[in-house]
Amino acid sequence: MRLRTLEDLPDPAGKRVFVRVDFNVPLDGGRVADDLRIRSTLPTLNELLDRGASLVLASHLGRPKGQVVEKYRLAPLADRLAELLGREVSAVSDVVGEEAQAVCGHVEPGEVVLLENLRFDPREEQNDAGFAGELADLADLYVDDAFGAAHRAHASVVALAERLPSVAGRLLQREVEVLSRLLEGPDEPYVAVLGGAKVSDKLGPIAALVERVDALLIGGAMAFTFLAADGVEVGKSLVEPDRFDDVRRARTLARERGALIQLPEDVVVAPEVAADAQRQTVGVDAIPRDQLGLDIGPRTVEEFARTLADAKTILWNGPMGVFELEPFSAGTRGVARAVAGARAFTVVGGGDSLLAVKRLGLEGSFDHLSTGGGASLEYLEGRELPGIRVLEED
Ligand code: ADP
Ligand code: MG
Repeated sequence: MRLRTLEDLPDPAGKRVFVRVDFNVPLDGGRVADDLRIRSTLPTLNELLDRGASLVLASHLGRPKGQVVEKYRLAPLADRLAELLGREVSAVSDVVGEEAQAVCGHVEPGEVVLLENLRFDPREEQNDAGFAGELADLADLYVDDAFGAAHRAHASVVALAERLPSVAGRLLQREVEVLSRLLEGPDEPYVAVLGGAKVSDKLGPIAALVERVDALLIGGAMAFTFLAADGVEVGKSLVEPDRFDDVRRARTLARERGALIQLPEDVVVAPEVAADAQRQTVGVDAIPRDQLGLDIGPRTVEEFARTLADAKTILWNGPMGVFELEPFSAGTRGVARAVAGARAFTVVGGGDSLLAVKRLGLEGSFDHLSTGGGASLEYLEGRELPGIRVLEED
């Protein structure tokens, strides 16, 4: 099904365009710590401004659960956006209240308004029609560029899109183009690298990926559930025994299809999760009972890199170890470099993975950094995302 895009938008000149953005970014002492999600919306915002529109922007931030929570106000985001756009951005202090109505009632072409955190209103997460109606009163046209929220049937994502002439912005369009390519026709060999904390967070994508990839490389804490399900003694490593059946099923499926599941051969272990803990590298068959695995070892990095070097398409989601602590970051660094260096179409997703990429200074080394953590994974499972469905032609 075709996604409606900015080409399909009625002429926005002199109109107020409501743009749903995903500015759910990490803040550090009231300042934006990482502005990737803000920068990623600039093509859409600039295009609309160039076409003579005024913009009413709205986002969520954090989980304020339907109440005003001071630390989740969007004012710091307005400051950063103003710097990036090179023009003033007025942050209003409510979502659909008097101030929002007054400001949006008088907005002129070229002006940019940022509404307050959508999730300060409980009706946002309820996909409430009345709330969507009040949002619709603030603008004439609707553009969705919030890929990170596309898997949520919330009022600003679904009900509002049903009320106004609605299309996808450039970021959402690009995310769908890239991820649908992974889903439908990736150049082969297609290799996925998965890591991160919990296998239970990513069982859906694992099940979907073993149906499609040529190789699945598993690192991070989730590798220990795979190893333990095989009877390997993994000491105090993070294991989810209630997922043994799921990972065994994934392995059986992969075997039947002739897809390779590659697990770590060696790991970096320590008695506790601490930067100054005494660490050592051991084979996975020699993990001491009183220690836990916190990174993949150098032999594993080499083996993973060998598989990645032959790939034509690579998806990477999830760090290979506790990369936040320098002594356990080598595995993530090694895999990041191998992915970046491969002659393949490369896609990276996941909030922590993107943070790792940024710390390594490798942001420009991949074909696509997906801004939607949960949304990217749900899309890659082949699930229909409500925020995308509503923008497709019937
Ligand atoms: P992403 O946000 O990229 O999808 P996740 O949220 O799934 O990634 O997982 C990231 C977290 O996993 C990181 O905070 C990292 O410290 C943790 N992690 C990775 N490997 C291990 C491990 N071996 N033991 C404990 N935690 C780990
Ligand atoms: Mg994460």
